[in-house]
Amino acid sequence: MDGDFWNIDIETLQEEELRHFEAPLLARQIEYLYAKSDYYRAKLDAAGIRPGDITCHEALEQVPFTEKKDLARAQREGALIGPHQCAPRSDIVRMVGTGGTSGKPMLIGWTREDVQAYSEMGARALWILGCRPGDLVLNCFNYSIYAGGVMDHMAFEHLGATVLAYGVGKSRALLDMFADIPGDKCLYSTPSYAVRLAHVAAEAGIDPLSLNIRKGFFSGEAGLQVPGYRQKIENLWGMSTHDLYGIAELGCQSAECEHHDGMHFCGQGYVIPELIDPDTGAVKPMRDGEKGELVYTSIRRQASPLLRLRSHDFVEIKTSRCACGRTGLRFHTQGRSDDMFVVKGVNIFPTAVQDVLHDLLPRLTGEFQIALDSPPPFDYAPRLIAEVAHDIPHSEHESLVRETEALVSRKAAFAVRVALVRQGTIASEHKTKRVLRNYPI
Ligand SMILES: [Zn+2]
Repeated sequence: MDGDFWNIDIETLQEEELRHFEAPLLARQIEYLYAKSDYYRAKLDAAGIRPGDITCHEALEQVPFTEKKDLARAQREGALIGPHQCAPRSDIVRMVGTGGTSGKPMLIGWTREDVQAYSEMGARALWILGCRPGDLVLNCFNYSIYAGGVMDHMAFEHLGATVLAYGVGKSRALLDMFADIPGDKCLYSTPSYAVRLAHVAAEAGIDPLSLNIRKGFFSGEAGLQVPGYRQKIENLWGMSTHDLYGIAELGCQSAECEHHDGMHFCGQGYVIPELIDPDTGAVKPMRDGEKGELVYTSIRRQASPLLRLRSHDFVEIKTSRCACGRTGLRFHTQGRSDDMFVVKGVNIFPTAVQDVLHDLLPRLTGEFQIALDSPPPFDYAPRLIAEVAHDIPHSEHESLVRETEALVSRKAAFAVRVALVRQGTIASEHKTKRVLRNYPI
């Protein structure tokens, strides 16, 4: 294929055609890494790989994985972006950070072309979500450092939407702004912020339904995949909800269409995804129903390319044609391994708890955190900190605690000790951390 990739309709692209287009980009990227980064050169040398050896998708299997924590560690030791920085500093025009569990953001660099690629992949995903030119989007992600702010802002612009850079905080003023702007509007935030904002509205005597927020675009947290949670947000705001899943380091987004049947991958031509067995690292076939962890390789990145980056995201692959007509890779997210914990042999994702708590609405708000107070093995009952609605009298809390513990045990199949906290204390403007590991990692 000699033509311009931009002319290819990625929404119905055939796998073989795509691989044919991507293979030379992969080969060129590996040569670039080998030439520009001591870190990658050493990694490839140690695996006995020479530039020129990796010329097709299948050959990627020989290449060692990259872990985010290794890159973050090197950054703390003094590298600007990390040992994987390949472009000279003079070509890097933008930097953003990702939230780290250590609390210190990991910095990511972008050249002018990288920025363009991010916007392109982002705009593809936003289109799938149902965003269109003419939509007025209030971006309520944090513009300070994080990719959800300025990077996603530019993706909305690239698509042709009108985007208002709101940022986080000042929720009461945000509601006034929504009220002042005539016509339909869209919200871009974490799902838990939409819930929090509805509480702020209720306290101020504002009916969220009166604000005409017709579409909610959500990212940054799992949760929308839990049917009850999605329904709750849709009912609170009278909006349609659309889930975006992105990995900031890669600039690669995936998005669900109106059929809500998994995330459509949008990185074609920029990022190659692979599925692996998370325990053995062995590559698994991308076939319908297959489960595993996604691993990503950038094939057109200049500033900080990623080679077989382990996402630690567990997914179930879907390859059948979606009802929307798109034929490419899509997947259901099952949870992040960082959030997963094993209690007495059972893998627990926070979304399972979220699902159970939905049954206790409106007495509980559905917001929660799970506290693991000592290191694994978790042969004890973790604490489940759950928000209780403000109108539930204190005299009923004890019985609600018992009821919640029994329901989690029955439906999610593990024991918890429930502690109730007052409404509004858990959900935040930032990503809500669902699992608290209160021990040194
Ligand atoms: Zn679809």
